[in-house]
Amino acid sequence: MFIAFEGGEGSGKTTQSRLLAIWLRDQGYDVVQTREPGSTKVGMRLRAILLDAVHQGLSARSEALLYAADRAEHVEKVIRPALYRGSMVISDRYVDSSLAYQGAGRALDPGDVTRINSWATGGLVPDLTVLIDTPPSVGLARLGGAADRIESEPLEFHERVRREFRALAAAEPERYVVIDGTLPQEEIARLIQDRVREVLPD
Ligand code: C5P
Ligand code: MG
Repeated sequence: MFIAFEGGEGSGKTTQSRLLAIWLRDQGYDVVQTREPGSTKVGMRLRAILLDAVHQGLSARSEALLYAADRAEHVEKVIRPALYRGSMVISDRYVDSSLAYQGAGRALDPGDVTRINSWATGGLVPDLTVLIDTPPSVGLARLGGAADRIESEPLEFHERVRREFRALAAAEPERYVVIDGTLPQEEIARLIQDRVREVLPD
């Protein structure tokens, strides 16, 4: 089973994917917890390029292709092998991040972003996507100041990203759970567990 976490900056994806991994391991599942960008050797270098503020002028198309390259490597070297072994895979970000950030954020054609990513992933789609929906003003404030190239984008950019995540979830409600990211951490964890319980194999 493949579960992806999505959401804007400071939404708590990393914390919640860790809590979900602990909860699943407690029940005896083998869990691979991973993230994008940067979960492979090449991916770590791509992450450094993508997030370094010195690359402020990086073209939107290059950015989309580099994220897709990171994802191709991630799927082939980490996600598919783990799924093949029968592990649960929890990924902090996946294709929807590209639709939200490069598609809506950078105003690239969503059809193009979808196509390069379905090619990059060989069509691998999560069984469940958890969207932690947080107003960008709240999320960015939690970070205590923008740290990387994307976080330093203006608030309108992050608002477009959030709208796109919500639209993606609304279009495919059976594959998403949308959680209010302003709720207390333990409550978010419980809501996620309730939804995951429904999709766990018997
Ligand atoms: O989730 P994390 O903060 O580690 O992600 C790293 C950065 O990469 C974030 O600032 C996020 O905005 C950015 N990102 C992006 N497009 C993607 C995936 C991540 O701009 N497709
Ligand atoms: Mg970040």
